[in-house]
Amino acid sequence: MVSLKKHPYRYYFKKYKKTAALGLTALAFTDALEMIPPLLIGRAIDQMASGAPWSQVVNTVFIIFAVATALATTRYFWRIHWGRFHHYVAEDMRNHIFNKLTLLGPSYYQRKPVGELMSLISNDVNSFRMAIGPGVLILGDALLGLLIIPPIMYSISPEWTWKTLILMPLIPLFSAKIIRLIHTNYRRQQDQFSEVSGCAQEIVSGVREIKSYGQESTMTSRFNFLSRRYEWACNQVAKVDSFWTPMMEFGVTAGGFILLLVGAPQVIQGAVTIGAFFAFYQYINKMIWPASAIGVGVSFFQQGNASFKRILEVLDEPIDIPDTGESALPHFESLQVKNLSFTYPDAGKASLWDVSFTLKAGDTLGIVGRTGSGKSTLVDLINRLYPIREGSILINDKPIESYSLTELRNLISYVPQEAFLFSEKVSENIALGLGSSTDEVAHYSHIVNLDKEILAMPEGYSALIGERGVNLSGGQKQRLTIARALIRKTPIVILDDSLSAVDTDTESHILERLQSQAKGDGNFDSQRPTTLIVSHRLACLKWADRILVLDAGRVEAVGTYSDLLKTSKTFKQLHQLQNQEINRAEAHA
Ligand code: ATP
Ligand code: MG
Repeated sequence: MVSLKKHPYRYYFKKYKKTAALGLTALAFTDALEMIPPLLIGRAIDQMASGAPWSQVVNTVFIIFAVATALATTRYFWRIHWGRFHHYVAEDMRNHIFNKLTLLGPSYYQRKPVGELMSLISNDVNSFRMAIGPGVLILGDALLGLLIIPPIMYSISPEWTWKTLILMPLIPLFSAKIIRLIHTNYRRQQDQFSEVSGCAQEIVSGVREIKSYGQESTMTSRFNFLSRRYEWACNQVAKVDSFWTPMMEFGVTAGGFILLLVGAPQVIQGAVTIGAFFAFYQYINKMIWPASAIGVGVSFFQQGNASFKRILEVLDEPIDIPDTGESALPHFESLQVKNLSFTYPDAGKASLWDVSFTLKAGDTLGIVGRTGSGKSTLVDLINRLYPIREGSILINDKPIESYSLTELRNLISYVPQEAFLFSEKVSENIALGLGSSTDEVAHYSHIVNLDKEILAMPEGYSALIGERGVNLSGGQKQRLTIARALIRKTPIVILDDSLSAVDTDTESHILERLQSQAKGDGNFDSQRPTTLIVSHRLACLKWADRILVLDAGRVEAVGTYSDLLKTSKTFKQLHQLQNQEINRAEAHA
């Protein structure tokens, strides 16, 4: 099996061999057929000049017509098959990159800017497609031309051939230089375009900040500056282009000029027919393209290979969370975190230190601690978003790595701290590919206290979210993502500060419903899920079986709400602070 990473061209030629072979064969036929018309037209000219019978001329014209029809057919075939071939390649390459991206964990995305990944999937894939598609075609076409045309010219006149082709080697040299210049200018134009669009994107997404800080004119001048630089880069590309085409045309005229100087006396003397002269002239024209096309093809390959190197970096990126576990998980019994320590890649100090606790099926654990104390890190690790290097997390006494990721995702529903919604309908955002019934979606929307707000929207559950549809408030988004987690009915539910943007009353209300749901009062659940709830509002965790207090990555204490008021310094301080805030708020009211 040819490897895509080692031999991308061979890999794709093998994978799509039928389409590629049809395209290249049709191209070879086209190239061969293209050699015929000049000879035939030359023959018709000679027939007319020598006063041959009309029927002979008509005969030649018919043959020319037949060749032209065959040419149109083969041209159609190579275009259609070759076009298909390189678009298949682009599709496959995009899917390869995308599949790999879905296997990489958050630490990869932390290192790579979104813009770079977007450009990889669009620009780099396209540039590789241009190399394997038009690049291969242009080079193949040029090589065929260089192989076929000179012998035909030679058969007409060896002397004319060397005299007119003597300057030909200059063309690839000259065109290679020009093409490099085009390449540099083109890259600069692309870079400058990304800057302009990046700036526009930033202005659009940061419009609230720009307006509230009165930054309109600063932003406008920045945009105008980038826009002018882009316009200058476009003009540089146009300048080289404007020089290049007339130069190529001049090359053709020069070849014809030499031929006239060398050949005309021989035609006048009758040593060579005027038809042969005409045919030869046509072949000179045909030589210009292959000679210059070598440079064009090579430049496509340069760009394609540079892009493939960037693509390879993603394909070669080690998967930090390999999906190799095979253990079955019929019933969840316990979750045990054992001496867990964790340091983020490139971070100076550890975010978690020697954390241990055990949860039995059905337990509810609250997790509290000051900002930056490691709460999200802990739940991210339980959800296996980062690789564990020190300590372990055991499910039913087996390390989480021994279960497949699908098994693990079916076990845990996780609501991250930052709510993310897709540009889909409200109901699709909740069900997220589960195909849940309308009743179920409505039930879980009620659990998170969102049903009335959804029904108040003109299109209700069918309302589209995002750029083309409605926008939800921060608190509405959070509640929707909780409904999304609950509808999966998994044995473990993790909420990472998922109710921070709703008011205290609503939070208590939802947690109460969650609790009664957990006890099996709902219509759709029968088993009480094990729940881990990270929250900044201590009062909302009163009903948790136990609360874990984190302080700078270490477990300071574990216990019930009332225990912790006695045993944990951090918990007591957080409690006092929140009480003071409530009292102050009441005094102001
Ligand atoms: P908050 O209450 O503000 O959500 P938290 O308790 O959830 O805080 P974490 O997000 O777990 O805190 O962060 C714990 C520590 O790890 C912090 O010092 C933070 O700066 C660091 N940290 C968090 N995420 C990363 C990351 N992706 N890369 C490097 N360091 C990180
Ligand atoms: Mg957090």
